[in-house]
Amino acid sequence: MSHTQHPASTASGKAKVCVIGSCSMDLVVTSSRRPGAGETVLGESFKTVPGGKGANQAVAAARLGANVTMIGRVGDDHLGKAILQNFKDNLVNTDYVEPVTDMESGTAHIILAEGDNSIIVVKAANDHVTPEYVAQAIEVIQNSDIVMIQQEIPEETVAYVSEICAKANVPLLLNPAPARHVSEAVIKNISYITPNEHEASIVFEGMTLEQALRQYPNILFVTEGSNGVRYYDGEQEVVVPTYKVDAVDTTGAGDTFNAAFGVALAEGQSLQDAIRFGNRAASLSVTKFGAQGGMPTRQEVEEQL
Ligand code: ATP
Repeated sequence: MSHTQHPASTASGKAKVCVIGSCSMDLVVTSSRRPGAGETVLGESFKTVPGGKGANQAVAAARLGANVTMIGRVGDDHLGKAILQNFKDNLVNTDYVEPVTDMESGTAHIILAEGDNSIIVVKAANDHVTPEYVAQAIEVIQNSDIVMIQQEIPEETVAYVSEICAKANVPLLLNPAPARHVSEAVIKNISYITPNEHEASIVFEGMTLEQALRQYPNILFVTEGSNGVRYYDGEQEVVVPTYKVDAVDTTGAGDTFNAAFGVALAEGQSLQDAIRFGNRAASLSVTKFGAQGGMPTRQEVEEQL
């Protein structure tokens, strides 16, 4: 595992962050009732909201002042154009977000009804974030202060990126969401892994949380919602508490935490300070609706620290 601190190194002094992952559009319907099989009901509202864990992390990191390059794929449809525009509006570099010909953009079809959500995810263009595609951007990866990746793209791409980062000594932050098994070979190559408690139980199947934390000191950081973040510092378990806020919508809290934690590490901040920065940004994000809607700017985080 690489632990070299890469100080912020762009001419502007901004940390260079590369995010590799999914870009999607969330299609959100609210309804008083969820339809049964073969049934049609009248809904109340409909919204399209940019999402996808990769895109969410990229937008959050850019709002926090990093110089962000996204590596991902959209479809050659109108949703793809809207996803690209949203990146531009948030000052994310899209040189490596290439539309896939004759393919739809990734979508999440979300029904909010009866106090709960039901979601169907169609990966579509996100399945085309292959190792061969990512290889075109190898120099961006090698020249980043940190690389962030998640698991809404093919498993072999995560493995490939982990090898490039390890060879180039670039820190890699893996948010293992959605949960799936992560091979030993990949874990050996990454610098930071940030599951929530549920994801940790799948990624480290067969181990208790305590065992996993002890096996990966200063590498495994478990996010525990309103409790904060737990890790093992080599001597003891540490919980860095988050901030008390009136939570309105926790969607995207994990993405905001990861982005802020990653930006702070890329700037050379200490582990504890980076976690605090992540907690502060994520706690602010849950006070507003929507994943990207609640992501704070650098100024908003610093006013609160
Ligand atoms: P999500 O899937 O909703 O994006 P997650 O399950 O990946 O989130 P959580 O562990 O729920 O991740 O939250 C990530 C971080 O967000 C926490 O470690 C904490 O810093 C912050 N956070 C989440 N919920 C709250 C809350 N209610 N109050 C304050 N901070 C919170």
